[in-house]
Amino acid sequence: MSSPKTSLIGLTRDGLKAALAGAGVEAKHQTMRASQIWNAAYVQGATGFDAITTLAKPLRAEFSERFSFARPEVVTAQVSKDGTRKWLIRFGPGVEVETVFIPDEDRGTLCISSQVGCTLTCRFCHTGTQKLVRNLTAGEIVSQVLVARDDLKEWPRAGRNSEERMITNIVMMGMGEPLYNFENVRDAINVIADGEGLSVSKRRITLSTAGVVPMIPKAGEEIGAMLAISLHAPRDEVRDVIVPLNKKYPIKELLAACREYPGLSNARRITFEYVMLKGVNDSNADARELVKIIRGIPAKINLIPFNAWPGAPYECSDWERIEEFGEIVNRAGYASPIRTPRGRDIMAACGQLKSESVKQRASEKMAELRSKEISRMPH
Ligand code: SAH
Repeated sequence: MSSPKTSLIGLTRDGLKAALAGAGVEAKHQTMRASQIWNAAYVQGATGFDAITTLAKPLRAEFSERFSFARPEVVTAQVSKDGTRKWLIRFGPGVEVETVFIPDEDRGTLCISSQVGCTLTCRFCHTGTQKLVRNLTAGEIVSQVLVARDDLKEWPRAGRNSEERMITNIVMMGMGEPLYNFENVRDAINVIADGEGLSVSKRRITLSTAGVVPMIPKAGEEIGAMLAISLHAPRDEVRDVIVPLNKKYPIKELLAACREYPGLSNARRITFEYVMLKGVNDSNADARELVKIIRGIPAKINLIPFNAWPGAPYECSDWERIEEFGEIVNRAGYASPIRTPRGRDIMAACGQLKSESVKQRASEKMAELRSKEISRMPH
């Protein structure tokens, strides 16, 4: 059997050149070959070397022996009645993530995952009930964009600066904590933002973190995407419970890191995400405290109606409550859009993502437990 081919997806330009060097491409040709391949992969959407007519035939044959642009397996592709799409993507046995596309009038947002599972155990998040399986590689992160573009039939008109493209924005708000997978996320975002390739500008890429404080300055320096912070509560007592990471990096430290984030201005604000949990973090006093603690940070507050999942320990705040909360924030001078839940019918909404394999295993576990319980029952 021949050895498995090296995937070129997700390599940085330097990584790609190194791969070409390994295949015997002379130094003086590496930059040009890398550009040809880059264009084919990220502008044309090539899935093989046959399509890369800028390379001479023998070279295509040689490269296709060693390298691939192969896509991961798409296990399911679902479309919500509101147009939201969700793909369950499998990178290997038990290594699955969900990727979601949310079309809007003025934009199309692709929500991508950075890890399979998560270590953070935020109490309101479904993904948080799933153990971390592993970090995704840069290639696996980038390939979520490719899968979505394939399915949306966006090649090649999705190329540079196209007005027509459907995927205009990317949010790293799927499964996982991106700042716990820093290098791969950094490389992936730099590939996605490359102006000669997928060309989604960093102003249109948002990285969302639960608040891994020591990595925030590094993210500012080496990634430079827009930053979203899953704040969810203005006081440590509450945040400690709903975002346990807060015990390690409390609100004060988190906000200090936000204040230092490079390039902030009114045109380039931090998004604070705030999930509305009935009776937990949704009082007027919470709203007032919130605007107090973020004072001075160019920010907007994204209010997220809590999306329920089976067994969730919370309920979503009433609509009037969310509006009143938003009013207070708004009057203090912060935009406070309420994030319309999208794709709830296909479990594609925020915090609902979880890979099928784990659901499967969980239900098997339940069945197992039940049978044990039965066997333990007194006769
Ligand atoms: N770990 C990162 C990336 C996940 S982003 C982070 O915490 O930011 C997912 C966003 O959806 C976060 O703001 C998260 O707090 C929010 N979220 C999680 N579960 C949710 C739920 N059940 N309903 C609404 N929003 C939720």
